[in-house]
Amino acid sequence: MNETIRDRLRGVVVGAAVGDALGMPLEFGSAAPIERLIRTMRPGRLPAGSFTDDTEMALALAESLLHEFDLNPDDLAERFVHWYRSNPPDMGIHTAAVLERLSSGMPWQQAVQEVQQANPHNAGNGSLMRCYPVAVACWQDLERLMAQSRLQSQVTHPHADCLDACVFVNVMIYFLVHGNSPQEAYQHALEQVTLSESFRNAVLLAPRRKRDELRNTGWVRHTLESAIWGLLNTSSFEEALVQVINLGADTDTTGAVTGALAGAAYGLRAIPLDWKNALRGEYPLKSGRIWRLDDFIHLADQLMAKYQIAS
Ligand SMILES: [Mg+2]
Repeated sequence: MNETIRDRLRGVVVGAAVGDALGMPLEFGSAAPIERLIRTMRPGRLPAGSFTDDTEMALALAESLLHEFDLNPDDLAERFVHWYRSNPPDMGIHTAAVLERLSSGMPWQQAVQEVQQANPHNAGNGSLMRCYPVAVACWQDLERLMAQSRLQSQVTHPHADCLDACVFVNVMIYFLVHGNSPQEAYQHALEQVTLSESFRNAVLLAPRRKRDELRNTGWVRHTLESAIWGLLNTSSFEEALVQVINLGADTDTTGAVTGALAGAAYGLRAIPLDWKNALRGEYPLKSGRIWRLDDFIHLADQLMAKYQIAS
């Protein structure tokens, strides 16, 4: 396997976890003044370098992908329930409502339908933040990548915008991994993914947004907007991440999504060493198993080999 591609695929997995950890202490805050942007791993409610629910749910998806040949939504739902029962300290409201029902024995199809029907316009970023393991597993198969990106979202977030955002980001990762520039990958995703008119307009405007126009809330459109803006207006992993984690509001999720994209664009080697070395966290929760940089690299290597076609 080409070493550059391997480095980019590792960059996706490590980059997302690093972005989550960078955003962790800044979550729910307001945007940092442009002359005082935060550039280091800082402690928040967790020690510096700790990842959060974004990465935990991505790890559940990654494990499910490695366990079954094709993405099996029943297996994925079971792993999310297992995570839910470990009492994670942070969890999206929508995700919690779905997993509470799953935990009491309701089939996932019924649980998501019930929760979505109560709030039909609800389109949070809870499936976007965890979707990148699919892009790593399916790096040679765009069709499978698109189908699995949708399916992993359906288990908790069935809104069309959520499905589309997951496909959009993973298609961008696909083209970045294969050597396209951020601008090219964004153009390819616009061609490959059919978005609703209003969502497409938001995505088209995203690169030209002013920093103070980005709301960066938990709405999936805001997260995708911020991530595209961060990736397309910078030229390094570090700068893309510094820009988005300082936007305030849902910083860890925007950090995770941008980290996956920028990791695909610049590779593992381009991620600052002190950020990579600070990365840590326990998964499963209360299991005593601590994840560090090498564990994420190992996971990326397992995922990228999953459907690999010998060359
Ligand atoms: Mg989080």
